[in-house]
Amino acid sequence: MRRIINLKLHWQIFIAMILGAAAAAIFGERMLPVAGPMGDIFMRLLRMVIVPLILTSIVSGVAGIGDSRSLGRLGAKTFGYYVMTSTLAIIVGLSLTNLIQPGVGVEVTGGQEVSPEELEQPGSLADVLTRIIPINPIRAAAEGDILGVIFFAIVFGFAITQLPEKQRTPLLNFFDTAFQAMMKLTRVVIRLAPIGVFGLISRAVSTMGYDVFAAVGRYMLTIGLGLSIHLFIVLPTIFFLLTRRNPLDHFRAVASAMAFAFSSSSSSATLPLTLESVEKNAGVSNKVSSFVLPMGATVNMDGTALYECAGVLFIAQALGFGLDFGQQIMVVITALLASIGAAGVPSAGLVMIFIVLQAVNITSPAAYVLVGVMLAVDRPLDMYRTMVNITSDSIGAAVIAHSEGEQLTYPMAMGEETA
Ligand code: ASP
Repeated sequence: MRRIINLKLHWQIFIAMILGAAAAAIFGERMLPVAGPMGDIFMRLLRMVIVPLILTSIVSGVAGIGDSRSLGRLGAKTFGYYVMTSTLAIIVGLSLTNLIQPGVGVEVTGGQEVSPEELEQPGSLADVLTRIIPINPIRAAAEGDILGVIFFAIVFGFAITQLPEKQRTPLLNFFDTAFQAMMKLTRVVIRLAPIGVFGLISRAVSTMGYDVFAAVGRYMLTIGLGLSIHLFIVLPTIFFLLTRRNPLDHFRAVASAMAFAFSSSSSSATLPLTLESVEKNAGVSNKVSSFVLPMGATVNMDGTALYECAGVLFIAQALGFGLDFGQQIMVVITALLASIGAAGVPSAGLVMIFIVLQAVNITSPAAYVLVGVMLAVDRPLDMYRTMVNITSDSIGAAVIAHSEGEQLTYPMAMGEETA
């Protein structure tokens, strides 16, 4: 027991995943009364820290950047990185789906078990984008509207930089100290991750229905393959080209965050772990991580972008809907926007698929039946794409920190112990 407690956190999380899956396989739904509360308590603790963590982290990070030129430069790099990696992910998804054609031959029958009408459909794209500006920042915080909180924190942090020094210093100190306190609290919560992961994984495995999987196996394989190419080839290559460091060091540094993203299917819930691992195990400054990561958790979703594109092409193929080149470009653009608009919570990406479908005029009931089927098999894909999403955020933080002249330190590369 002692030995397990002394293991690095990511190993503890991996063991918890395996035990959780094994317990669910043996005990099935009888695990739910135990697994449910274990997962829920941990998710609630994480959600409790998210809003104050994001607020204090961004305000202190942005206010600490100092001048509007540095802020603009950091903003441009971050935005450039987000768009570049998400677009590359979409291209991988587009190419694979055209190559493998997973939708061809899939039968669309009525009366699927899942009714797509139950899904809450998002508004138009313009709606999604305008809603980034919160009417009331306090309400945004109270309702967990992360993008609204981020928007307010950035402009507020920027306003602090414009104050005369006498007024600026106490505010900066306040947010800095509040952020340190939030990080302390976060670290305590993170220590409980293995227990939470055990609960989340055993619940996911024990409630999954397996019959539908066979019908759409090729679709799932296509997306799984695309995500793997992006995670293990595209992102490490970008990391290596821009930092000349070994990508494995980075993967090791963020392993706990990756494992937790996989278990929770939520980039937002994983954010505390991502921040902690990037700062502590990769040596990225708070100035950079607090700017790149919170926003990345909601805006930069490579896995989701790939999924939106591949998912819509799958539906088009299943319905025998030929998409010409122009329409495929439309899919690429709207998939990018939909991934930006998707919240960092489970299955958010699937709901956003309606926006991409509308953009290419696929609105028949049969298409919605297919979305229902996709929902039935969404959990494992959601787990994987969330892991890809946060890995891309963390690589973005490292790459941008490097470009700002920061020295990346990977103590784990030298075998030193870190969480
Ligand atoms: N669950 C994903 C995330 O939080 C979003 C998605 O559904 O694609 O990153």
